[in-house]
Formats: sequence, structure tokens, C-alpha cells
Amino acid sequence: MNTKVVTIKEDHIDEEAIQEAGQILKNGGLVAFPTETVYGLGGDALNAESSAKIYAAKGRPSDNPLIVHIAGMDALPLIAAEIPESAYLLADAFWPGPLTMIFKKTDRVPMATTGGLSTVAVRMPSNKIAAALIRAAGGYIAAPSANRSGRPSPTVAKYVIEDLDGRIEMIIDGGFSAIGLESTIIDLTETKPMVLRPGYITPQMLSEVLGEEVIIDPGIIAADDTRKPKAPGMKYKHYAPKADMVIVDGSSDAVVSKINALVHQKQENGQKVAVIATEESGPSYHADVILSMGSRSNEDAIAQHLYKILRECDELHVDAIYSESFQTPRIGQAIMNRLLKAAGHTVIHCD
Ligand code: AMP
Ligand code: MG
Repeated sequence: MNTKVVTIKEDHIDEEAIQEAGQILKNGGLVAFPTETVYGLGGDALNAESSAKIYAAKGRPSDNPLIVHIAGMDALPLIAAEIPESAYLLADAFWPGPLTMIFKKTDRVPMATTGGLSTVAVRMPSNKIAAALIRAAGGYIAAPSANRSGRPSPTVAKYVIEDLDGRIEMIIDGGFSAIGLESTIIDLTETKPMVLRPGYITPQMLSEVLGEEVIIDPGIIAADDTRKPKAPGMKYKHYAPKADMVIVDGSSDAVVSKINALVHQKQENGQKVAVIATEESGPSYHADVILSMGSRSNEDAIAQHLYKILRECDELHVDAIYSESFQTPRIGQAIMNRLLKAAGHTVIHCD
């Protein structure tokens, strides 16, 4: 298949290109598009065949459900069977934006879209290109992240092209994703609201709006595989670069000496080594490649850089990766959730 790549600017939307992309989706084809979290691989959410094509293009396991993207609250009742009051409160506070809510689904949503579940995940993205495309497509786009399964989510179109060129009808290049981490997922079908995937919207922010405690799925905190996460996708080894990756945690001086010692050992064995560090700590390392997540005090920048840096490790053909830990105050939980997965939960603690 020949994949058409079009560039659209968020502050000056090319309506003709959007209509062309919308028509592809209405006809059952696939279009990758930018959102504020990461790039999405879109198909018509109400068309079972389109959803099947998404799984095939990504190489995604078919039990891993897709998120349905909408552009207005009027679209919600057609796909969500029960909409609790809490959903309206959260929508008022965080939609459009990086929050996904889980509802009981209606019959309009095919099982192919929900991976066989009776619930549906819904998000209203704030990216203007995404919103225009959803409207042009008829209101409902099923879209997982636009990477081949197991690779880091793409935050720039270049990586969508790398993973999906020749497999889908169109890729919209809309620049880089402002947030850089996938949406927070909250399940409203449980007795207590439960975060199934941490993201930019934190449990504290959710709990302030809801006026009640928000719990975190114990299955995503466990470092081992003893508890199964409720979001099927969270159990897969995601985001992994090709080289072995280890996180080194501890006081900043101890981390620098430990990583430098580990790098030295690998280099003695003829290996090429990358270190994931910050603007502040970068100059202290002696490695083949030093990749900076930005300033340690700017956690938004750390989130924005993460997936790009994991992809760069592949591009640079390194044999081993050592990363600092990023337990930052607000979105550290979301950042570390991705980083730990990339490292297969291999962490060295030092003081
Ligand atoms: P992605 O769009 O690639 O970030 O993947 C979507 C994520 O949402 C995966 O982790 C899915 O398992 C999760 N998800 C989608 N629908 C549901 C649902 N109905 N219940 C629980 N998790 C869901
Ligand atoms: Mg994904």
C-alpha cells in the first residue's frame, strides 16, 4: 500500500486535507494523526473491520482494546451505556485533554474495537487537528498509539512513518506531541474510581474534582507479574528499546559514580553504551552517548523527551543503556511507569 504523508499545522488547519483523511476513515481505511499525548493510529470506531485493520497494522494482540476518540459530549451517549455523574465532572475539568474514561459500552461499539470487553474507553483530545479529523470521520475514531506493537509510542511523525509506512492509507504530520505520554486512564465502572494507567492527569487532580478517593490499579504498581493489571495493554512489555536497559536510583553523586563504573565495564567488553541523564548531570558521565531529558526541574520536558530518547537509543545502535531515575513530584509516577517497562523493571539502588 502507498502511504500518503500530509503536513497540517494545528494553528492553520487545511480543511481540504482533513476532509480527504475523514473520507478515508469513513471508507474503512486507516489514518495516523497527531494528538497532544502521542500520535494515534485511527480507524472508524463503529466499524469492526476498521478495528481489525488497526490490530493487523500494529501487530497488536487482539485482546488489547482501543480507545475511542470523540470531539464533543453529544457523541458520548451513543457509545457509553451508563454515564455516571462523576464522568460529567471529570469531562468538565479535563476534556478536551489527556484523560481516558472507561464506561459500559452500548451495542453500537463492536467487540472488535473493545478487544471483546463489555466496556469502552473514551477520550476527547484537545489537539485541534485530531478534533477536526474526528468530526470529518463521522464522530468516532478508534485509535491506539501509532507505533508497531512493542515499540515506544511515537511523539513525532518521523517515527510513525518508520513503523507504519506502507501499512496504512495516510499519515498526518502535525509536529511534535505537546505532552509526550499516553493519556491517564480512569475506570468509572468500579465502586471506587480507579486509575488503570498513570498519565499527565494525576490521581490527586482527579480526586480533587471528584471529591472522593481515587485508587490506583494495584496490578500496575507491582514490579513482578503477580497481579494482573485491569487495562489489558498494561501487561505487555511496551516501549522497549532494543538494547538492554538498567535504571540506577539513589542520591545524585552515587548514581553518577555507579553509572560511570558500569559504563566502563561494558566499554572494556567492547560495547557501545548510552546514558540517559539531565542537562545538569550530563557532563558528569563518560559514555559513548549521553542523552538529555532536559532540566531535572522541568518535568514536562522530561515527559516530552522520553519516547524520543528511547527511539534514539535504537537509531544509535547502542548495546547497553543506563538511565537515571525520574521520580519527579507531579508526573513522576507516569514517567517511571514507562521507564520501568522500558527497562523490564531492572533497577539498581545505590546510596
Ligand atoms: P493505547 O491507545 O495504545 O495507549 O492503548 C490503549 C490502552 O487503553 C491499553 O492499555 C488498553 O488496554 C486500555 N483500554 C482500552 N479500552 C479499555 C477498557 N475497556 N478497559 C480497560 N482498559 C482499556
Ligand atoms: Mg500504545
